[in-house]
Amino acid sequence: MNRKTVFITGASRGIGKSAAILFASKGYHTFLNCASSLEALENVKETIETRFQVPCTLVPGDVGNPENVAQIYTQIYQQCDHLDVLVNNAGISYIGLLTDMSIEEWEHVIHTNLSSVFYCCREAILPMVSQKSGKIINISSMWGTSGASCEVAYSAAKSGVNGFTRALAKELAPSNIQVNAIACGVIDTDMNRQLSAREREALEEEIPAGRYGTPDEIAQIIWDIANAPAYMTGQIIGVDGGYL
Ligand code: NAP
Repeated sequence: MNRKTVFITGASRGIGKSAAILFASKGYHTFLNCASSLEALENVKETIETRFQVPCTLVPGDVGNPENVAQIYTQIYQQCDHLDVLVNNAGISYIGLLTDMSIEEWEHVIHTNLSSVFYCCREAILPMVSQKSGKIINISSMWGTSGASCEVAYSAAKSGVNGFTRALAKELAPSNIQVNAIACGVIDTDMNRQLSAREREALEEEIPAGRYGTPDEIAQIIWDIANAPAYMTGQIIGVDGGYL
């Protein structure tokens, strides 16, 4: 059997971890990445291999760094000739006034959330084109659509991911490669752990669904997009409990 393959960036926790476990449960060979939480990433691999007896390969490295990404893909292509699915999920937030942000902080947010998507797609595309198939799924944010106060760099990066998604979808549609993005609302992961209980409660009141989304809900949408008809491409799919 030719086992299907998926590369998920930022898979040590949160949305990426949930997606890794879901794809593994469906028989995929998962290639999993993060930059620094290596022990957590090892634990995800152990969970996958114990529960599903499918191959899982760890490819750690900073996806905001093009040399790291090239090394990651060298490792991936030693084990498979192409990816079926690429999930660009790694991301960081930055909360604060724009006037307080340093150039280094700006570049870190842009490289991690946006340039990483370019680096990871660039290495994935040619083998997908040869196969005439592939799914690229970018994890964006509702702030990329509406903009958030005190999250200007993050909003700009995710807005960039949305534009990148729409444009690349057009470029790759003739090769039968679909590119879509998910504009997540507030999801219950470490990214939002800095909020106090009172802040969380206030935020939940603003969300029509009355609660945060779960990483498993986003993983389910990632899976659904990976299995959607080929005619669906270039879409930014909002999954935000009705917030926007
Ligand atoms: P999370 O729990 O903080 O997980 C982020 C993941 O990205 C971790 O595995 C982290 O691992 C990895 N990562 C960070 N920088 C990286 C880098 N330079 N290279 C490789 N991996 C890196 O966050 P999450 O909520 O699951 O976020 C996943 C995606 O959803 C992000 O793109 C985020 O912007 C988006 N999103 C989240 C929310 C939300 O409310 N949670 C809302 C909208 C969009 P290391 O730290 O070990 O590197």
